[in-house]
Amino acid sequence: MRVLVTGGAGFIGSHLCERLVENGVDVVCLDNFNRYYDPRIKRGNIRHLEKQRRFSLVEGDILKRRFLDSLFKKHPFDVIVHLAARAGVRPSIRHPGLYQRVNVEGTLNVLETGVRYDTPKFVIASSSSVYGNNQKVPFSEDDPVDHPISPYAATKKACELLAYTYHKLHSVSVTCLRFFTVYGPRQRPDMAIHKFTRLIASGREMPVYGDGSTQRDYTYITDIIDGVWSAIDRCRDFRIYNLGESQTVELNRLIGLLEKYMDASAKIKRLPDQPGDVSITFADVRKARKELGYSPHVSIEQGLQEFIRWFRGVRDLV
Ligand code: NAD
Repeated sequence: MRVLVTGGAGFIGSHLCERLVENGVDVVCLDNFNRYYDPRIKRGNIRHLEKQRRFSLVEGDILKRRFLDSLFKKHPFDVIVHLAARAGVRPSIRHPGLYQRVNVEGTLNVLETGVRYDTPKFVIASSSSVYGNNQKVPFSEDDPVDHPISPYAATKKACELLAYTYHKLHSVSVTCLRFFTVYGPRQRPDMAIHKFTRLIASGREMPVYGDGSTQRDYTYITDIIDGVWSAIDRCRDFRIYNLGESQTVELNRLIGLLEKYMDASAKIKRLPDQPGDVSITFADVRKARKELGYSPHVSIEQGLQEFIRWFRGVRDLV
């Protein structure tokens, strides 16, 4: 099996490439190493894979149709896992056009080129942010997702709509995965757990938005990769799945756990709530359990300790 992983040098992508190679899959990792965060981190994420026979890296941009054409002309893919995107809610409010181009137009290019070169299966990264400020918890795939509260969330919803259209028009199988705040080794440095850990470790002031009562469903990276692997294996028709831990953790508790495991105090600076941030995310994962055999099991306590262990090993690099 040959799989194209777009955004393969990123946080989730590099873990997925690793798992695919371990399982005997030929992987083409496509990434443009943009500067959303330091591209040296992304190069470091996949350095250990570059020696592997089953792994190849292609540098390029999903916004360049001619480049995609030349890539697909070289060899067919059995599956495309499309993770390349501008991630992050808050920056999307400052740069909505960029998010629209990369996330919507980029996804359209990947779908269009994939279909033109007869790729039968697509697995596409969506996000819990499509639920907006959903009042009903936990969030299930049947809940309405018509009220995204950030440009990022709106682009992810648009990706799901395009995915459905391509499934209907071209009879390709497409699975959209709504990831719920993923964390673990190599987590993006702009994400809360990584940022807080860095600030606590350095003794610097830590900006915290709101009163700390917001809740997130934090999902450990190995659980997410189990879900993606299974989604590749069982990709059929058109499906949307939540991939979360199905537990919520209050922001204040998260900070308390980080302080405990790091044996240090956070210098918290309270700031007002940020526009675009939702008050809670909470995944109902029954559909993924039933159809994908998804079974998340890493607790926040275990996952944070793993993350801190990794952080301490690489702190001078990230
Ligand atoms: P990441 O930024 O670490 O990875 C994305 C990768 O895509 C980066 O390496 C980047 O260089 C690459 N990329 C961006 N634009 C590109 C382009 N135009 N052409 C080629 N490559 C490009 O982010 P991540 O946290 O690993 O997220 C992966 C996917 O999962 C994204 O689609 C994101 O929206 C989605 N997601 C992530 C989370 C999370 O908690 N990390 C939650 C929900 C959804």
